Amino acid sequence: MMHKVCIVTGGSRGIGRATALAAAKRRYKVVVGYASNKAAADEVVAQIESSNGKAIAVKCDVGNESDILTLFKAADQFGPLAALINNAGIVGVTSRVDDMSAERIQRMMAINVTGSILCAREAVKRMSTRHGGKGGVIVNLSSVAAKLGSPNTYVDYAASKGAIDSFTVGLGYEVANEGIRVAAIRPGLIDTDIHASGGEPDRAHRLSHMVPMKRVGTAEEIANAIVWLMSDDASYVTSAILDVSGGR
Ligand code: NAP
Repeated sequence: MMHKVCIVTGGSRGIGRATALAAAKRRYKVVVGYASNKAAADEVVAQIESSNGKAIAVKCDVGNESDILTLFKAADQFGPLAALINNAGIVGVTSRVDDMSAERIQRMMAINVTGSILCAREAVKRMSTRHGGKGGVIVNLSSVAAKLGSPNTYVDYAASKGAIDSFTVGLGYEVANEGIRVAAIRPGLIDTDIHASGGEPDRAHRLSHMVPMKRVGTAEEIANAIVWLMSDDASYVTSAILDVSGGR
């Protein structure tokens, strides 16, 4: 079956990029959201098109509601929405809570929490049988930080991912009888640019000894779990949170 539409927020780099490529292989048309790195988003689209897939890049800072509305309108032009991957997320620089500004914490929550909830709102409006939709899947990106709390690193980030866990469970129940499954992935230490944006490019490798498997994970290993959740093989999975973390 070709041409189900899937939106991946933050699909230009890291886990989102790997998910966009994996979804395209499974014959989804992919809407690749990006915040500012147009070149990276265009490269993902080009790679999908070079394998005869279909994709478009749409600028969408999920901290901005009007960008989110633009993203979903672009997806509407592409075809009926079947999946939303709420992947866009940020960390802050390593810090104790005593040193965190209100602006930093508000930005963290606006992007990681409010942005994900607003995207889910738009997806539910389109996919819920209550609104005449054909059902679909929402996968939220949480983090093992939701369990570990990330002391002395970024408790604000951990708290934002704890919110994502609660949101996943609650929304899953809310729309379970409307054809929509909702699940979250809690990645562990994954080798992406996110650690550099927190000021510690080597963080994942430095901490890999704390992982029971003694290695970092790849973006593709997270993407594989996401596309499984998107698939009919996961047809009885909802309100569920899956750790993909090498045991951490
Ligand atoms: P990443 O490598 O830093 O990539 C971030 C992606 O999100 C980029 O495509 C970026 O777009 C986009 N983005 C950043 N801010 C955005 C915003 N305000 N609005 C929309 N898009 C935005 O991140 P990643 O490591 O792949 O992480 C992806 C998700 O997995 C996040 O939710 C993160 O919290 C979660 N996660 C990651 C790890 C890990 O170890 N890497 C562990 C646990 C959970 P541009 O290219 O335009 O900048």
